[in-house]
Amino acid sequence: MADQQRSKAAKILEQTQKNFIKMYPKMTDLVKYAILSIEIRVCPEIDRDRKRGNKRAFAHTGHVVNKNYICVSKYINTLCDTKIAGIILHEVGHIFTGCGSEPEADKWVKDILGITIRYPGSDPLQLQTIHHRTYKKYYGRKKR
Ligand SMILES: [Zn+2]
Ligand SMILES: [Zn+2]
Repeated sequence: MADQQRSKAAKILEQTQKNFIKMYPKMTDLVKYAILSIEIRVCPEIDRDRKRGNKRAFAHTGHVVNKNYICVSKYINTLCDTKIAGIILHEVGHIFTGCGSEPEADKWVKDILGITIRYPGSDPLQLQTIHHRTYKKYYGRKKR
C-alpha cells in the first residue's frame, strides 16, 4: 500500500490524538501514552473478510496483543473523509473501552471527545460517519 493512500486514515488518527490531548491538558502521562501509542496498521485479514462478503469491514482493533493498533483495510482511503473519521473515532472508542460493544465505543467518543458518531439511513452499509460540520470543526484547517 502506498504511503499516500495510507496517509488519510493516519492523518485523521494524528489529528484525533492532538484534539484529545488539547481537550484534556491535565491528563495523566498514562492516558497520554495510551492515546499516543495508537497506530494505524494495514491488515490483510480485513481484506480477506471483505473478499468473503463483509462489505462493512474497514477496520478493527485488538488484533495484535499488547499493541494499540487500529487495523485498517487498504480500501479505507476510498471512503470520504467524514466516514474515515467516524470509523477511526469508533475504533479509538473500542480501544479506550477495552474493546467494548459497538454502542459503548460510540458513547466513549461522544462523552470524552464530544463527537457524535452517526449512522445515516442513506448509507446501505451503515458505516460510521460524522457530520461534515463536525469534521470541519475537529479536522478542518484552522483559520487564524
Ligand atoms: Zn487486523
Ligand atoms: Zn465496532
